[in-house]
Amino acid sequence: MPRVGVLALQGAFIEHKNVLARLDTQAVEVRLPEHLEGLDGLIIPGGESTTMGLLAQKRGLLEPLRAFARSGRPVWGTCAGMILLAKEIVDGVPGQPTLALMDIAVRRNAFGRQVDSFEADLTVPALGDPPFHAVFIRAPVIERVGTGVDVLAALEDGTAVAVRQGNLLATAFHPELTADVRFHRYFLQLTG
Ligand code: GLN
Repeated sequence: MPRVGVLALQGAFIEHKNVLARLDTQAVEVRLPEHLEGLDGLIIPGGESTTMGLLAQKRGLLEPLRAFARSGRPVWGTCAGMILLAKEIVDGVPGQPTLALMDIAVRRNAFGRQVDSFEADLTVPALGDPPFHAVFIRAPVIERVGTGVDVLAALEDGTAVAVRQGNLLATAFHPELTADVRFHRYFLQLTG
């Protein structure tokens, strides 16, 4: 049975734990560096990226989290978690602590100017049919993807909303808030 950590500093970590439990996966709450030991993968949930980054810094977690990702084990960031993974935050809060691991540029709360939250049916070839019903809550947009980054899903206007770079996965939306477990299954497959 794979053991998957969920960063449990703030935000929607319980919802991820519940999905993992449904998929017969042992979910471990990560609050301190030692909680990363023996994990096969890690999920960074949605929430507030500035707060989560500050808490991670306070607990001495930033470098251990980077080392975990560099070890090749899968790491998945949803929404605020995606912001923490991005190498570039456009218009971010100055000095906002991040992990800066994935070659993407994201803009925080970018949809918020028009609409706070919305839902969309996404075609995700990696998951097959039917489309994935995605819930966006004060979501970031991905403004640039680097050459080594695969786009797994995009909105109708072409905006990338799910990306993968090797062992790193990021979604601008919240698969843990719907009953569709295919994204979690996809992530678990990466644990090998
Ligand atoms: N707007 C939040 C941030 O900037 C992300 C929202 C979310 O995770 N649902 O961190």
